[in-house]
Amino acid sequence: MLSYFSTAVGWVREMFKSNTKIGKSVLAMGLLVAFNASAQNTAHVHGKGTAFVVQQDNEWQLQFTLPAADIFGFEHYPDTAEQKKRVKAQDEKLSIAESFLTLPGGCQIVSIDASNPFSSSQHGGDHDHDHDHDAHYDVEATLRMSCNQALSGLTFSLFQVFESLESIDVMWTLESGQGMQEISPARPSVDF
Ligand SMILES: [Zn+2]
Repeated sequence: MLSYFSTAVGWVREMFKSNTKIGKSVLAMGLLVAFNASAQNTAHVHGKGTAFVVQQDNEWQLQFTLPAADIFGFEHYPDTAEQKKRVKAQDEKLSIAESFLTLPGGCQIVSIDASNPFSSSQHGGDHDHDHDHDAHYDVEATLRMSCNQALSGLTFSLFQVFESLESIDVMWTLESGQGMQEISPARPSVDF
C-alpha cells in the first residue's frame, strides 16, 4: 500500500512540476484520487495493475503500473539468452499504444514512455552480479495522447498482450468528473 501511495503522489507531483496545463489544474483532484486509491489498494500483486487517467482540454495522460512478472514472465534481470530476447521483445510491445488500449477515434498518440526495470541501460551492462530473485519489480508506462473530441470511455488491450494480467484498477480525473473501475479480460472497458 505504501509503495502504491508514493507512486500516486509522485506521479501527481511530477505532473505539477512538469508545468503543463494538466499538471497545474489537476493537482488537488489528483491528490484526492491518490488518497482514495491508497486507502483501497494494494501492494504489488502479480496479475494486478493500476492505471491513472487524467484529461484536460485535448490532453490525455494515462499512467500504468504493471507487475514486471506479468510483462516478462519472470521478475529478475534476464539470465539466459532467451530471457534477454524476451525483455527486448516486451520492450517493443511497451513502446506501442496498441499494447495498452484501443486508440479512440479522433485521438493521436503524443508519446509513450515505459520504464523497464530489466533493460541493460538501467542495469549497467552485462557484468556478473548477484541477482535478487526475491525482489519485486513494476513496469511503469506513461502514455500521452491528444483527442479532438470528448471520450465517453476507454477500452484497454493490455489483457490480450500480457496474458497473465487479471485485473487493473483504473482511476480517472477528467474535467467531467472522477471515478474508479476495475477492468478484467472479460470487461476491459471503462465508462466515464
Ligand atoms: Zn512480484
